Amino acid sequence: MIGRQGSGKGTQAERLSATYGVPHVSTGEAFRAAVKDGNELGRAVQGYLQRGELVPDDVVTAVIKEHVFGPGAPEGFVLDGYPRNIAQAEALATMAAPRGLDVVLDLEAPVEEVLRRLSARRVCSRCGATYNLLSGPPKQPGTCDVCGGALYQREDDTEQAIRRRLELYESETAPLINWYREHRCLMTVDATGGPDDVARRVEAAVEAALDGRAA
Ligand code: AMP
Repeated sequence: MIGRQGSGKGTQAERLSATYGVPHVSTGEAFRAAVKDGNELGRAVQGYLQRGELVPDDVVTAVIKEHVFGPGAPEGFVLDGYPRNIAQAEALATMAAPRGLDVVLDLEAPVEEVLRRLSARRVCSRCGATYNLLSGPPKQPGTCDVCGGALYQREDDTEQAIRRRLELYESETAPLINWYREHRCLMTVDATGGPDDVARRVEAAVEAALDGRAA
């Protein structure tokens, strides 16, 4: 799943993973968990996350290799936040061969919309559930509806880091859209509106892609 920060990748990937019974693999989540844990990976990536920079390709690809293509690898998966540049897409194509990917979803949301969403985003420190203070606030301010954990604002949801992450999206990740279009597995989904509307479009796009594959 590709798309600007704030386009709803995490939310939609979580839903897809529940619908199709396959794991949701988020490199950003894996890194945030490692930072929280204070382990070696966390110490290595912390600075990149804080600044909104991309973690080096070999580190990210090693995480994907372990979670998705290692021993006990799942039958299917929803990737959220990987690949983020052409080098990672090439690494993924090699790891996923010969079966390849069923579909790459591009969640399309304009910059003004994602800026609004990112500044209002809050995340549960315990279970990772995401809230938007404007369009989907928690029932009790500061507290997760799902598990009662405390909500926090991501360190990289500051104005400066957001600006840097969006710049990197344009220069590094947006070229993937054409790359995947050429590889004939791209589906573009309108990611404006509420999460339920977007989820319906996402599911329709996945079904269309899977039908195409079966045909
Ligand atoms: P996300 O939760 O997907 O917005 O990712 C948060 C941060 O994790 C990014 O700003 C990067 O610092 C890092 N990150 C996540 N995925 C990747 C990736 N595929 N390549 C490089 N850095 C990544």
